[in-house]
Amino acid sequence: MQLLDGKAVAVKKRQEIAENVEEFIQSQQRAPGLAVVLVGEDPASAVYVRNKIKACEQVGVLSFEHRLPERTSLKELQTLITRLNQDDQVDGILVQLPLPKRLNEHDVLSWIDPQKDPDGLTTENLGLMLSGRARIYSCTPNGVMEILKHYDISIEGKLAVVVGRSNIVGKPMALLLQHANATVTVCHSRTPDISLHTKQADLVVVAAGKKALLGKKDFKQGAVVVDVGMHREVVDGKTKLCGDVRFEELDGWVSAATPVPGGVGPMTITMLLHNTLQLAKQRLEVG
Ligand code: NAP
Repeated sequence: MQLLDGKAVAVKKRQEIAENVEEFIQSQQRAPGLAVVLVGEDPASAVYVRNKIKACEQVGVLSFEHRLPERTSLKELQTLITRLNQDDQVDGILVQLPLPKRLNEHDVLSWIDPQKDPDGLTTENLGLMLSGRARIYSCTPNGVMEILKHYDISIEGKLAVVVGRSNIVGKPMALLLQHANATVTVCHSRTPDISLHTKQADLVVVAAGKKALLGKKDFKQGAVVVDVGMHREVVDGKTKLCGDVRFEELDGWVSAATPVPGGVGPMTITMLLHNTLQLAKQRLEVG
């Protein structure tokens, strides 16, 4: 089984991004900027935000961190996002999800200027992606495509199954695979027998958010398996990450698979940096 090493692909891609950021700085006399907004105290979200800020530093993207207390009102959040929309130093605005339950995610995302939406979650950017005219593609699915490209895994004409249909992962993943000419099936929580579908597939992308959901018996021999799932568990006092797939069962059965950690995760952040730079360049063109 070939290990699809997202960490190694990310290192290479980040080097490329850092060079492009440097060129941008030389020509514009400023760095691309990413604002990260975190509401509340969710520990996993705090880790993700910290990693995003660190990654920005690595490639020369400016980051602006906005940590707001759990009690933040919709109005306060709207005021901040409006200000960031108008700030010329900010090319991307990322609101870390999930938000506290009382804040309607759809409302909050709708306030982000689509020209500054590196996650591709505004209605306009989702529509552009659907019609094949995307400004940018959602970070995680785009990161998966980069991994497949790096390892020369052909997609055209293949049977692909995506498990999960969220706006941030499953749906744009299915779209990107269709754009690459795969025949795509999407499974979700109401699919009676997921295995029936995954066992036929040449390529399976699993993004269900259910720990250890699938294993060897769910995949065709020689299939390619990409595990987007990310779960934290504490073992002997140490935090461990694991995915939606029982990775340890796959060797000797599937042809290639991503591990967790070290698979899709590093590529998600990498594509966030890529998208921020893309948006910065596109704003120049728009004027
Ligand atoms: P989400 O919004 O909770 O969506 C999960 C999707 O999976 C839903 O469409 C749901 O179906 C489906 N699903 C849930 N249980 C299922 C089951 N038993 N069988 C089949 N489908 C099932 O989650 P998400 O934001 O897409 O994220 C998915 C996972 O990826 C999470 O573990 C998340 O932490 C991880 N993630 C990782 C990265 C990374 O960088 N590695 C980035 C983003 C997300 P319904 O639509 O029917 O509810």
